[in-house]
Amino acid sequence: MALMSTPPNKYNAESAFEREAWDGAEQDRLGTHLVEGALYAQFTFEDGRTVTRLPQTLDLYCSSCEKEQTFERTTVPTGSDDFGWAKSVVYRCRNCQARYQAFLYTWNKQGFWKVGQTPEVRERIDPALKKALGKSIVLYQKAVRSRNFGFGVGAVTYLRRIIEDKTSQLMDLLKDEKWNSWSEEERAEFENARKTYQYSQKIEYAAEKILPPRAFANGRDSFTALHDVVSSGIHSKTEEECIEIFDRCNVIFTRTFQILHEHKREREEFAAQLTALKR
Ligand SMILES: [Zn+2]
Repeated sequence: MALMSTPPNKYNAESAFEREAWDGAEQDRLGTHLVEGALYAQFTFEDGRTVTRLPQTLDLYCSSCEKEQTFERTTVPTGSDDFGWAKSVVYRCRNCQARYQAFLYTWNKQGFWKVGQTPEVRERIDPALKKALGKSIVLYQKAVRSRNFGFGVGAVTYLRRIIEDKTSQLMDLLKDEKWNSWSEEERAEFENARKTYQYSQKIEYAAEKILPPRAFANGRDSFTALHDVVSSGIHSKTEEECIEIFDRCNVIFTRTFQILHEHKREREEFAAQLTALKR
């Protein structure tokens, strides 16, 4: 007797579709973790389920093309899945075919860990931020390196130190930038902020005055994270939670310092040109 297969019903078709969507989304998340995640940080999938394959392509910075490119997996998977202990996977730039990125990982039922990569995690720091941070750049590099090696507590501690060092400079920059255009009330508000606000409040206050409104609104969550860094909020947090906090506040931190420094430089250049003109 021929085996009768079960005819597909609506429920089965829907769940297969949903399963595919979930796989795609989780595989993308895994890809982002491969590219940006810290070493030895555990990556877990949603709902206690798992995908079985690494992504076929990744978006990575190519040092040959000097921009973000699609990298394609070159290593052929062996077996029906990519699970294993200390396994490696290699991707190649689809555009120039000249640059490779390799990862070493361990993947089992408990989760996924990136345990090595070459070239190393990118520590490229925006030249504008480098200038804005001055001597604190050394601390910032250590913060980024700590983050990339999974030392989240170390990363936020370095960041906290920079914030403490830089906040008064930030307030000075803001004063130089706005003082002449401020009303008496705004000047009083500034003095009050300078004397009584905590570090994170000062940065938030300065950022609100200097960042484009949209960037500021988007950064709301970053200020909560920033506040955690400079208050006692991080004392009870795990390495992973600290990495997450670092990533969240890093964006707003970088933007604020860059923009203020940029304004200051432009104004100084303008003043210099004006002086030259008057001669
Ligand atoms: Zn390339």
